[in-house]
Amino acid sequence: MTDYFEVHARDGAARIGELRLSSPLTTPALGDDVVEDAGSLWSEARTTPEGDEEALTVLPHRAFPAGTREEVQESFAVDYPDVDFPSAAVVTAETAADYGADAYVLADAVGVVGHASAFVDAVRAVRDATPADTALYLAGVATPANVATLAYCGVDLVDGKLARIKGRQGRYLASDGEYFLEDLDELPCACPACQSGRETFTRGDCATHNVNALAAELSRVRRRIRDGRLRDYVEGQARHEAWCTAAFRTLDQQYGFVEERTPVIRDAELLSATEDTLRRVEIQRFADRVTSRYRNRFDRPLVLVPCSARKPYSESQSHAQFHDAINFRAHLVSMTSPIGVVPQELELTYPAQHYDSVVTGRWSEDEVSFVATVLERYLERNDYPKIVAHVPDEGYRAVCERVEASLGLDFEYTVVDHPTTDDSLANLRDALDGEMSYRKRTREHSTVRAIADYMFGDGAGDEVFESGTFQTTARYPKLQVRDTEGEQWATMVPQYGMLAFTLAGARRWVESDAPTKSVEIDGFVPHGSVLAPGVVDASADIRVGDEVVVTGPKAFGVGRAEMSGPEMCGSSRGIAVEVRHVEET
Ligand SMILES: [Zn+2]
Repeated sequence: MTDYFEVHARDGAARIGELRLSSPLTTPALGDDVVEDAGSLWSEARTTPEGDEEALTVLPHRAFPAGTREEVQESFAVDYPDVDFPSAAVVTAETAADYGADAYVLADAVGVVGHASAFVDAVRAVRDATPADTALYLAGVATPANVATLAYCGVDLVDGKLARIKGRQGRYLASDGEYFLEDLDELPCACPACQSGRETFTRGDCATHNVNALAAELSRVRRRIRDGRLRDYVEGQARHEAWCTAAFRTLDQQYGFVEERTPVIRDAELLSATEDTLRRVEIQRFADRVTSRYRNRFDRPLVLVPCSARKPYSESQSHAQFHDAINFRAHLVSMTSPIGVVPQELELTYPAQHYDSVVTGRWSEDEVSFVATVLERYLERNDYPKIVAHVPDEGYRAVCERVEASLGLDFEYTVVDHPTTDDSLANLRDALDGEMSYRKRTREHSTVRAIADYMFGDGAGDEVFESGTFQTTARYPKLQVRDTEGEQWATMVPQYGMLAFTLAGARRWVESDAPTKSVEIDGFVPHGSVLAPGVVDASADIRVGDEVVVTGPKAFGVGRAEMSGPEMCGSSRGIAVEVRHVEET
């Protein structure tokens, strides 16, 4: 049970937290002013400290150098007392466990920071073994250049110790690295310590500047986490230290750990400026769901087209021209780096309309092979009577040819020079000659079913929205799903391309054979939100932003998850679900 730390926002493994001291501290932050160390038990036996709500007290501890054998660590293990003031326990990757503390101090931070895999392993080990609503503190390691990466990987508290030491050694720190003071002709900063100017700038000033620079970087990191955009920043910023780049790439290889902590919807735009973007969770998750959950429901030819800079694609000029030529006679799927393939029904679904990429007119080998892999998986799962590739060169054609060869398919190519030339559009029109247009109803029904597949799992669209049981009303993209009597089940939310359910819709979902994401609560009727302590159990696959059903002895409701399922079950503070509709049962 933690009383003194609460997570308010999540952006992958990074969080905005609140250390609830008598004057609260928003994390990630410097802990220097609020952390009291009760000392090491190696030097002397110590009694349990008094402690109070003004500080986070590090309980008496025994630290071990990196590589200490587990048996040795166990035989000297500390019995952490149960205290009623804000406390932190010192742990290693091996000894980390739930000791009832509000924060955990990684004992050998100095030994792992600078080594990507050792660092990621240690942070993961502590995170996995301690409750989500506790802070992770790494002392003596933070610099303005590495702190964004530390936070990205899940560190909540750091200190200014290393920055001060380096300042006194004449090392001037910035978010792009470290300079020797004697090499600086001018000071590349405008903080108060740097105001005096280069001539009179002392090593003492340098220490002060270093801590200022660290604090400024932390405030930028907090802003980025709140905006859901820390990853975009880290992909660029981490380039200044090789180990930081290696650290976030190492974390990318631990998909499950990051995926559990990454929201399924966000307002923020995702910027694809480096090839590392291809490996971020949002991109991998979309590609995975499109190729394992989504199913094509149109019995028409497939037309593959290039994406457009404007999102959603259907609002771009090029797609309006494709649309005119196709005239509902084919299923439209856009090819894009970094998303892969986007079926027309999912063009609004996060992150399909939320990304921007650097367009040079030439795809790298990594991009070609990523998009080809996704297209190949997509076509293994979805059969079409005919495939028309209305794509330009510049990577698209290479992807198509690669997939044609590997699957033994024959695509018909319709582009001359550019996809929107008159000749190209005439070829596209001709390629679909004799095909019948599908109906608006087919289009709308397929869209809500495709979104249900994407949200809930393979086959979910047909299970929840069984033929003959529902109708769609209102205009795309604000489609509404109703039963045949007219009672509303769900609304399509255009910002994220997801469905928001009514109580009747939630009942329909629960009664169907589609996988349900449910949060079981105690015997109360929630109004507005369900707090974590009220949660009895929750589906493990719930992610932040997911549509969830809330059930309990006294209530049935539907809403949006604010925590992952595991975090709801393991937390004693914070909002678990924002409830949209609820009724007493
Ligand atoms: Zn400065």
